[in-house]
Amino acid sequence: MTPNNHQKKQPTPEKSPEKSNTGSAVEFNHIENVIAVMSGKGGVGKSFVTGLLASSLAKKGYQVGILDADITGPSIPMLFGLRGPVEPGDHGILPLQSSSGIKIISMNLLLPREDQPIIWRGPLISSAIKQLWGDVMWGNLDYLLIDLPPGTSDAALTIMQSLPLKGVLMVTTPQGLAAMIVNKAVHMAQEVGVPVTGIVENMAYYRCPDTGKQHFIFGPCHSDAVARAASAPVMAQIPIDPMVAELCDSGKIEQAVVDESEALFTAFVKKVPVAGKPIPLQDSQSGYDTSPTRHTVDPTMALPVIQDDASHDQSFAGKGYSEKARRLIQSKENLGCFETPDARAKFKGWCGDSMQIDLLLAGDVIREARFMTDGCGATIAAGSMVTTLARSKSLTEAMQIMPEDVLTALDGLPEDHKHCAELAVNTLRETIKTALENSKGKS
Ligand code: ADP
Repeated sequence: MTPNNHQKKQPTPEKSPEKSNTGSAVEFNHIENVIAVMSGKGGVGKSFVTGLLASSLAKKGYQVGILDADITGPSIPMLFGLRGPVEPGDHGILPLQSSSGIKIISMNLLLPREDQPIIWRGPLISSAIKQLWGDVMWGNLDYLLIDLPPGTSDAALTIMQSLPLKGVLMVTTPQGLAAMIVNKAVHMAQEVGVPVTGIVENMAYYRCPDTGKQHFIFGPCHSDAVARAASAPVMAQIPIDPMVAELCDSGKIEQAVVDESEALFTAFVKKVPVAGKPIPLQDSQSGYDTSPTRHTVDPTMALPVIQDDASHDQSFAGKGYSEKARRLIQSKENLGCFETPDARAKFKGWCGDSMQIDLLLAGDVIREARFMTDGCGATIAAGSMVTTLARSKSLTEAMQIMPEDVLTALDGLPEDHKHCAELAVNTLRETIKTALENSKGKS
């Protein structure tokens, strides 16, 4: 609990703000939904996503607040062009209000100078966050968004354990490292029993203003994998937009026009509704449900049925299935299809089982691949593996994938199921042929 040497020069949570004549404001507040916005890693746009979502909600008539819990690196006031100091009210600190009426509190609004650093150890930071929660007069809010500091620190733990969170919105970017670290945050939320509300993939791609073409600057997205681990939907994939950065830097985030914010708003309000307010109708142009990377079930393809005698892990143990194959049969990685794939093909194997593969392309590189099958567990493992092997390869490279490669990657399949790897590879090849034909058609 001991602050470091710099502590003497620092405002303490107990004294901040000096003007407050507070006591607890909590009993005067009525906050319907408290949602934390979290990322594993800094700089992925967590504050930006918080600000964007808050702006969309406020513009649609919801009462919104933001608690900037990034005590040592607060950026919310800057995004909204707000400067302190905040004023005391009858029962606590009065938050500042943005131009669209979002109530905002941040450590920076309590400091005499906005560039004054906060150099506190974890426990003091946690205590400051509790005070920002308890001593601020939020009044009636439909949503309070809490912008967490990056990582799985004390601050994140304090909020998850001591505030009445409805859920956590996870922000990630396409880089593998960001996805790996956000998975830690997902596990943390799961361990403390806070549900993950949704995933937002920020900086997902750059859309060329001249051609409208999407460039996947940071590589293929990983949000689907994060979504699977979190059992939560991907609510939006937001592109990199230099205009956004400029508006954020100049305190005008509320003026940012981001097409995907409508999708985020719809998906969010549907997942975390407010009593008495209408839930937006399914908008065919919005939300992860209808984005190009949506997984859907193709009605023309039967759902996969595991035909082996039981579908749980033990049933495959001792039958020649490797641990890897068993894991994929259970997790069904890459199972599904895209609503608007760049290429799709089906193939029926000599055994009578069928498979369908969908591809999303970035140029001639396979960005994402999904499969469906009506076959057995081994077919699911093979479909899972072939789509994983194909990802990030060019069409020509993926054409070279052999059934042996799938078998090797799976650490083998039982002798009488080895043909499932052929079915998976043949389906992939058919899909690649379709992709090549499509691209010839376009040129
Ligand atoms: P974090 O809260 O995760 O540390 P920020 O929200 O502060 O990240 O964003 C980091 C920087 O990236 C900011 O300058 C912000 O304006 C910029 N930024 C975030 N998202 C985008 C985007 N989609 N396009 C362009 N710039 C972005």
